Amino acid sequence: MLYFHLFAIMKTKILLSIFSCALISNLAIAQNKITSEVASAIKVASATQIKTDIAYLADDKLLGRKPGTPGYKMACDYVIEQLKSNGVKPAGDNGTWLQSIVMRNATLAPNFTASIYSNSNSTDLAAESGITINPNPTATTTSIDAQIVFAGYGITAPEKNYDDYKGLNVKGKIVLIVRGAPSSFSSSESAASMNVATIQKNALKHGAIGVITATIAERPANTGPVRPAVARPIMALMSEKGELIVCASFTSEKLKLAGTLNFSVTNKILNDAGKNLTTVLENLKKGETQSFASNLKIKAGYQTTHSDFTTYNVAGVIEGSDSKLKKEYVVHSAHLDHMGVGRAVLGDSIYNGAHDNASGIASLLQITKIYSELKQKPKRSILVLAVTGEEMGLLGSGYFAAKPTIPVDKIVANVNTDMPGIIAPMLSITALGADHSTLINQVNEAAAYFDLPVEPDPEPNENRFVRSDQYSFIKEGIPALHVKYGNKTADGKNNLDLFVKEWRAKYYHKPQDDINGIFDFEAGKKYAQLNFLIGYLVANDLTKPSWNPGDIFEKKK
Ligand SMILES: [Zn+2]
Repeated sequence: MLYFHLFAIMKTKILLSIFSCALISNLAIAQNKITSEVASAIKVASATQIKTDIAYLADDKLLGRKPGTPGYKMACDYVIEQLKSNGVKPAGDNGTWLQSIVMRNATLAPNFTASIYSNSNSTDLAAESGITINPNPTATTTSIDAQIVFAGYGITAPEKNYDDYKGLNVKGKIVLIVRGAPSSFSSSESAASMNVATIQKNALKHGAIGVITATIAERPANTGPVRPAVARPIMALMSEKGELIVCASFTSEKLKLAGTLNFSVTNKILNDAGKNLTTVLENLKKGETQSFASNLKIKAGYQTTHSDFTTYNVAGVIEGSDSKLKKEYVVHSAHLDHMGVGRAVLGDSIYNGAHDNASGIASLLQITKIYSELKQKPKRSILVLAVTGEEMGLLGSGYFAAKPTIPVDKIVANVNTDMPGIIAPMLSITALGADHSTLINQVNEAAAYFDLPVEPDPEPNENRFVRSDQYSFIKEGIPALHVKYGNKTADGKNNLDLFVKEWRAKYYHKPQDDINGIFDFEAGKKYAQLNFLIGYLVANDLTKPSWNPGDIFEKKK
């Protein structure tokens, strides 16, 4: 397999089979910007300290760092101590290190009612497990009675010349959508378009009051009994005044119904309008919108119980050196939470999250250590952010991006660190999301400095770009990236993805992801150094990062 240098691809549109010539030119650029002070500061990053930090954060006594537990608070305290010793200053609420957040657990009461009806007949959806209703984090009692409108994928993407809402009136109605995107969308465009929160927000913008997802495949016969149609509890972050700030599956108090219809109800709605599901799906894939107003209505009433507790983001700042630009920020982030105690696997029930994401936090701490070593700080300020609730749907970062402790329009970029995957030497990288913006320039400069080829995402179908906290910033219109390993291996087989897949099967989101797993702490050090340098180059560049003109993420604000 060849390694493609993205910078070279962008500049020349020619795929170079040898990346060295591009590396040399980038190295020359990088060396002008990377002073000897920066070069020597980079060397303070410590593999031993990364191991120490991971060992503490992933210790059994922290019980998997679940938000709302003492173990999570211990993790916050540890990070604060480390940031203090690295010369970082607090940047949370009112001069503290913490941003306090009310986390709400919302649970649907089982006695809900729901029916689908027309003038001539009515079907009880509750009795037949026809609908799964998402709990409403904004109200304890909710009711709705509205017409169904089918809105295809629920996508409005003018830059792709695609709009499921064209000519459709959904005001006061329930939008029915299928999850997907036209085949002309790239993997990151599809992933972003299929995001439930994005779909709901778009529907609300068009005046809808309900958004339900269609089930488009029959349930396989041998998958056990049908589960009762009660949604699992959901987590939402609320302001102290009780406003909904972020929730992955129920995004606004204007929404009266969110949920999923089963396969037979989906078919019933399409058949009633004289449509065939297979044909509709085929046409949607081709980019031909299939929207229509149904004659059917849904009537539902349900109750949600709420239980609230407090959780925290940890925020710190390293002040920039330029009197003007220091009012702008580059955010280095990583999530601090993990999944707590859960179902036992091989006799262990503590989900320690050593890789996910104690290793990212350990990297973040080394990044701050390098900044603290610099006498001449970068022009812009650096905001250091350890967030809560990532595992529950990017909640803490979503909260910070919506209610930052600094002005949101002063955040120029986000460099996120989630589960670097330090299980082997880091010999090449991929920078998720960077090629959507000018951030690819700093990625290429920093990677060239460390002799690391930059590869396209080896696993585009994993949609990793929208699966971690950088996505919360992207949704606010802030260019962001997340560095992952590329595929290069020392033996020349360049199949690191296979090793990662094996690792994932055994360790990912399992209690086995503890300090006794597979680690390459030297790779962790290199990862931290590289991420520092990317952030540093962005923070020190006179030009503010920007999305590529016409990019799908450009106008998401
Ligand atoms: Zn995770």
